[in-house]
Amino acid sequence: MSRQRFGSVRFIIAFSFLFSLLSFSFSFLSWDSAAVRPAFHPIPVNLELAAHMGAHAALGALAALPTLNVVAVLTGGVNAALTDVDHIGSHLGLPLEGRASHGLPFGLLVAVILYLAARKGILGRELPPVIAGCIGLASVLAHIAMDSVSGDPMMPVWMPFYRAQVAVTPPFGVLTEVAAVAIVWAASAARRRLQSEKTRTPA
Ligand SMILES: [Zn+2]
Repeated sequence: MSRQRFGSVRFIIAFSFLFSLLSFSFSFLSWDSAAVRPAFHPIPVNLELAAHMGAHAALGALAALPTLNVVAVLTGGVNAALTDVDHIGSHLGLPLEGRASHGLPFGLLVAVILYLAARKGILGRELPPVIAGCIGLASVLAHIAMDSVSGDPMMPVWMPFYRAQVAVTPPFGVLTEVAAVAIVWAASAARRRLQSEKTRTPA
């Protein structure tokens, strides 16, 4: 494997590991807030789940498309699906919300932490820190967008500040995906402008 490709794979794995760890940890902020105390129930691994995850990945990849960067698009796809790591606690029977990380506070938190991790070089140098942070936020927004149109619009979108579930109706879900694309597009465009200004030699 070439050095560059290894760097890309390392970035996606490091980003996804950190993102999943954050989603799982964040779900503990919903301790005792679920209406019904969950009992242990295994995750149903079937075709329906695979299709649902595939749809999450597609919207996550779409949100990262304005970067015109393959690593960013793959990272967006993988992590939009990985938002659902917050389900694990309730499947284990812990008194947690199944969708605790399906919200804006979580999206902003991952944006900040992934930005800082990228700045420290923890993720490698494949993507600039601002883009890494934006992909984190866009992954969460793209995930919410897909869930809103998949039949169950109830999510605790303000967790942990307001712990009740809120209905994210499909039109609002579409707006959420548009917002995810717009955030990545704005950050990518700003970065490209900055880079072209830097490389322009003074007359
Ligand atoms: Zn979900």
